[in-house]
Amino acid sequence: MNQHARLDAVPIPFIDVAAQRQRLGGRIDAAVARVLEHCQFILGPEVRELEGALAGFCGARHAVTCASGTDALLMVLMAKGIGPGDAVICPSFTFCATAEVVARVGATPVFADIDAATFNIAANSAARAIAAARQAGLNPRMIVAVDLFGLPADFAAINALAAAEKLFVLDDAAQAFGGMVGNRRLGTLADATATSFFPAKPLGCYGDGGAVFTDDDDMRDLLLSLRSHGEGADRYDNVRIGLTARLDTIQAAVLIEKLKVFPEEIAERDRIARRYSQQLSDVVKVPTVPNGMTSVWAQYTIRVKPGRRAAFAAALKAQGIPTAIYYPKPLHRQEAYRYFPADPAGLPVCDLVAEEVISLPMHAYLDDVTQDRIIAAVRRAVGG
Ligand SMILES: *Cc1c(COP(=O)(O)O)cnc(C)c1O
Repeated sequence: MNQHARLDAVPIPFIDVAAQRQRLGGRIDAAVARVLEHCQFILGPEVRELEGALAGFCGARHAVTCASGTDALLMVLMAKGIGPGDAVICPSFTFCATAEVVARVGATPVFADIDAATFNIAANSAARAIAAARQAGLNPRMIVAVDLFGLPADFAAINALAAAEKLFVLDDAAQAFGGMVGNRRLGTLADATATSFFPAKPLGCYGDGGAVFTDDDDMRDLLLSLRSHGEGADRYDNVRIGLTARLDTIQAAVLIEKLKVFPEEIAERDRIARRYSQQLSDVVKVPTVPNGMTSVWAQYTIRVKPGRRAAFAAALKAQGIPTAIYYPKPLHRQEAYRYFPADPAGLPVCDLVAEEVISLPMHAYLDDVTQDRIIAAVRRAVGG
């Protein structure tokens, strides 16, 4: 076997967390060592420092960190007092946590369809879902707009709909922190924004983590209380039912270092995504980025013809190239969620794209040689 053939057989990681660790290792090790030195593992100084840096990065007035992206969503619902009898409009083509938190507080998720080009919630379907919720005797309170795969949702349309219907807009930016509309970062485009620092997200820590962004001072105070058992004046003054949902100081220390290189990583992800699109758009359906938007490319997701996807994935796997399917089943088809209401016109786009989507390896450390190997394999797999 010659050198080239052996290189070709080496499996490629889907997301290369180790490559980033190699770049930042010393700095992160030192940051973690400082926490091990001062021993303030819960709400140590790094947590406040990170919150300042995150808020500054995205331009929001407040950042409140927490234990996961799911807790970030949950805390906003709790802060708004969402509960039984309330309806929250969610896209069906998303990670389950988007709707899970709604059901968890006893409210009803009502599913809306997505736009075929962007995979994000379609305002016209959301409007039908709101009407259907009212007809069913529910009280629509909120729309959750998910920035799927790192691409900002259509906030112009969603915020207009929410304003007309007097609803709160929660941005589920778990996959999209750093994404932009014009020169505004996510974190400022909805009434509140939740994100996740799960390791595989564009800005990930070394465990679970999340944050909420808001410009509302009262919301910030509520979030701070909710993440620490509903505390009031101090830890042993309990004024509401809360959670234990703080971000560990060690994770904050990791994120402070990672945030420093994040802008460069976003630019690199975008360069890699453009390269994919340039070299694949003639053989597969490549992602669409509306004018003026910047995606952080949590996933680079193409579409292949229904029925061809399994063979396509197998052909890539045989060449050492992993793929992933986000998501094989929209939430309204899931056992846990199929009994909740949906846009009465149906969710045909969610159903269709769930059959077609497949994501290629994407991370900021994907070098050109490796990417060329992926591109060539994709072209071979589709016979292009
Ligand atoms: C990852 C994700 C979440 C949940 O984040 P965790 O940190 O894993 O709890 C919520 N919504 C979406 C769209 C996600 O992709």
